[in-house]
Amino acid sequence: MILRYPQSKEQSAELLRIVLARMGQHDAAFNPLSYTVWFEYAAGMNVQLTKALEQLLQSRPRLTDADLRDLYQSHIADVDPQAMHRIGNELQNVMATLANAAGSTGINAGQFGTQLESLAIGLQALNDKLTTPMVRQAIESTARMRDSAQALESEVKGSQSEIQRLQSELTRVRDESLLDALTQVLNRKGFDEKLADMLARPVPEGRAHGLIMFDIDHFKKVNDTHGHVMGDRVLQAIGEVLKSCVPADSSASVARYGGEEFSMLVPEATAEECHKLAELVRARTKALKIRDRRTQAVVLTITISGGVALRQAGEDAQALTARADAALYRSKQDGRDRITCV
Ligand code: GH3
Ligand code: MG
Ligand code: MG
Repeated sequence: MILRYPQSKEQSAELLRIVLARMGQHDAAFNPLSYTVWFEYAAGMNVQLTKALEQLLQSRPRLTDADLRDLYQSHIADVDPQAMHRIGNELQNVMATLANAAGSTGINAGQFGTQLESLAIGLQALNDKLTTPMVRQAIESTARMRDSAQALESEVKGSQSEIQRLQSELTRVRDESLLDALTQVLNRKGFDEKLADMLARPVPEGRAHGLIMFDIDHFKKVNDTHGHVMGDRVLQAIGEVLKSCVPADSSASVARYGGEEFSMLVPEATAEECHKLAELVRARTKALKIRDRRTQAVVLTITISGGVALRQAGEDAQALTARADAALYRSKQDGRDRITCV
């Protein structure tokens, strides 16, 4: 559990019920943002938020999307922006657990409803013969209980699909925030996270985590000669080249480190594997033909330089990146369109 949400599974299950009930009473959409606001409110963990929310409720019984967004902005997002990412993860875990819990509650309520149904029918058959007030009352109560069991069942089923929707929305938002919009490879944030993940993992004997940095050669000239739109197309094409070099079953990942620089993270690798991979990127980049969209004539070819570093004992992300960068710099110095390993 992260620090912001220390609630146990049971506590958060209870909170979920309260949150869903609250969300149902207002006009705002059921999205992760409003869920977070109501969750923090229900958990009594955010004093400022609670104050502001209660004040708002006095003037307005039904809160809108704008109200929830304001509350979120002023009392959750601003407070701890870095935590948002982790919160996404955490909520997802909570919701996965709750979706299961809601599922089994729904089944129980359904079975109970069915039992009551047959009891009600049985009692109804006796109705004509035994019409004492007590029996009639029992028949009525049974019917009422059956109705509420059925209502509970459908309510739980409703919450369950709502939870699943929230969950996939969270996953989508989270994944999107780690991707570079232009090239659809990991962005810098995604790279930083993946690198930290990789470095936290132990490696088997004889292997080390590898980092490859790439930088397109003379890219400024591409922009200057062909314009930025063409420059962007080249970046997209290079993104595709890098992706194409990583086999589907590989644990390696591709990122746009910034501008016209890309990188590859290669967990549990050898120097030879990394070098091969970097060479493949270099060769495929060189073979790439960027064509005029209209005439299909080849308008430009490009080259890329790369630097490979394998993590040494005790090295942190910064030191490893600096060494891969130094190797890349060497490739540039030595004439570009080449790979250097350190
Ligand atoms: P070198 O071979 O030494 O790497 O030369 P270079 O021209 O590639 O390097 P330099 O750092 O001088 O220029 C990088 C250029 O990349 C400058 C910048 O305009 C361009 N660039 C960075 N990001 C983008 C982008 O998103 N789109 C486009 N079209 N150009 C970009
Ligand atoms: Mg550069
Ligand atoms: Mg460059």
